[in-house]
Amino acid sequence: MNRKSIAVIGGGIAGLTTAIALRKAGHEVAVFEAAAEIKPLGAGLLLAANAMKGLGRIGIAEKVAPLGHHLSHFTVLSQSGRILSEMDSSVLSRKYGLNNFAIHRGALHQILLGELPFVRVETGKRAISLEQGPQSVTIHFQDGSTQRTQYVVVADGVHSSIRQQLLPGSRVRYAGYTCWRALVDNPGLALPGATETWGASGRVGIVPLKDNKIYWFICINAPANSPEMRQMTAADLLSRFAGYHAPVPQILATTSDEQLLWNDIIDIAPINHFAFGRVLLMGDAAHATTPNMGQGACQAIEDAAVLLDELEKHPEQELEQIFTRFEHRRISRTTMIVNRSWQMGRIAQLSQPGLVAVRDIAMRCIPNRVSLKQMENIYQTDF
Ligand SMILES: Cc1cc2nc3c(=O)[nH]c(=O)nc-3n(C[C@H](O)[C@H](O)[C@H](O)COP(=O)(O)OP(=O)(O)OC[C@H]3O[C@@H](n4cnc5c(N)ncnc54)[C@H](O)[C@@H]3O)c2cc1C
Repeated sequence: MNRKSIAVIGGGIAGLTTAIALRKAGHEVAVFEAAAEIKPLGAGLLLAANAMKGLGRIGIAEKVAPLGHHLSHFTVLSQSGRILSEMDSSVLSRKYGLNNFAIHRGALHQILLGELPFVRVETGKRAISLEQGPQSVTIHFQDGSTQRTQYVVVADGVHSSIRQQLLPGSRVRYAGYTCWRALVDNPGLALPGATETWGASGRVGIVPLKDNKIYWFICINAPANSPEMRQMTAADLLSRFAGYHAPVPQILATTSDEQLLWNDIIDIAPINHFAFGRVLLMGDAAHATTPNMGQGACQAIEDAAVLLDELEKHPEQELEQIFTRFEHRRISRTTMIVNRSWQMGRIAQLSQPGLVAVRDIAMRCIPNRVSLKQMENIYQTDF
């Protein structure tokens, strides 16, 4: 293998896991992050078994697992608390030897950064454009500086300006619902697993984390960037969901305005190319998905694992070829997840009472084995 110089744009989960994978494959890596400091945005994160396998492939699953809360039960409830669907993934865990975890985003970021002690990580470097030559790529930054490198991995998230340059037709889509998240102390509740409650006023997810913490999220249908939603306080959310089953109101009551994180839910309409010669799109920059399946970061981690897999299996090949092979392996799986997640969101966000009632009946009729089969498709990876 020939050691190459590779710049990674973006220090999120995709950028950092890719940097770890590239180092593991023996390349020289530098990470350029726009923010003044590399820190996670968000509260909790579900790391499904496929992500844990990806973390294993890049050599860090054993460090991440102890910081996660093991999750095997996923239940969808109606707003009165009636069970609509219940899944116990331990059957699959036994079959594949892998578990699902929920983790604090900050804890994951710390581990990822800790794995890059000898990697140049520059903050305050917002990439604005790329120029590709026959032997190299030049990155132009907003501060007027440039960086020449042999290859570039673009992992600058859903609003990627570089993707926009490479694929001007790519489209960020608003899903039609907006989301609040928070990380709170558990007020003494026994939470056996993760739940989602689907009701006419919106959807509430509750996920237990380690160290007696709870991560919750709420999705409400609204126009994009709604001033009314922007002004919502923790008390407003509590009053909107006061009629939902316990422990939804109890958990919302423990939340302060400072703990709230708010953003509209968006994705990217699936694109047909991730590889552009010496440049590769990864993570949300390539295939941002709505969070309904909890798979965005999981797919970013799979990206890093697949890239490493290709590099190790084909050490004789040029990186342009590796990037193309990566694209072939990743396009159909990520497109399936983006599309399925979009559809799931539409069903979960139904708000007309009549349709909600029909949906709830239909949900209760879906055999458990069908839900498990769908989960198994996600568990199955090709690395
Ligand atoms: C409400 C919600 C809940 C979610 N829950 C889950 C979940 O449970 N499980 C899961 O797997 N996924 C989940 N996701 C998705 C997950 O958060 C993303 O898929 C994941 O964080 C994407 O990582 P990334 O590194 O590709 O992008 P990002 O996390 O967006 O990182 C991009 C990085 O690039 C930097 N950057 C941006 N522009 C530039 C530039 N021009 N130059 C240099 N740097 C730049 C940014 O500052 C950032 O650090 C959720 C998402 C949302 C919105």
